[in-house]
Amino acid sequence: MHEASIALSLIDVASEVLRENGAARASALTVRVGQWSSVVPEALTAAFPTCAQGTPLEGARLSVVTVPGVGECPVHGRVTLDVTRGLRCPECGAPTPTLLAGDELELDEIELAEPDLEDV
Ligand SMILES: [Zn+2]
Repeated sequence: MHEASIALSLIDVASEVLRENGAARASALTVRVGQWSSVVPEALTAAFPTCAQGTPLEGARLSVVTVPGVGECPVHGRVTLDVTRGLRCPECGAPTPTLLAGDELELDEIELAEPDLEDV
């Protein structure tokens, strides 16, 4: 499944960040998903808990921030694209073949879990 492999790669990246910070676990993470990426946020959050099992991200809360698409219209400059209309300026319909934002999939924030002292 597409979203499961995405969840796994996010977990990889997040685990790396945890290691760099000397943290054992994360309690939450936020990812930014472009509206024009092929990722379905609901499917990603649904796949995450299973994928996180046995990793430092197990039990962490996943939040997805959706990033709207931004194109560049020759007349209107930067415009927020309407997914239902395709890569066109919503004002004048001119093609905006270049996505300036909206196709990203990136880790935005990790909340490190407080070390559980009773566990030590
Ligand atoms: Zn325009």
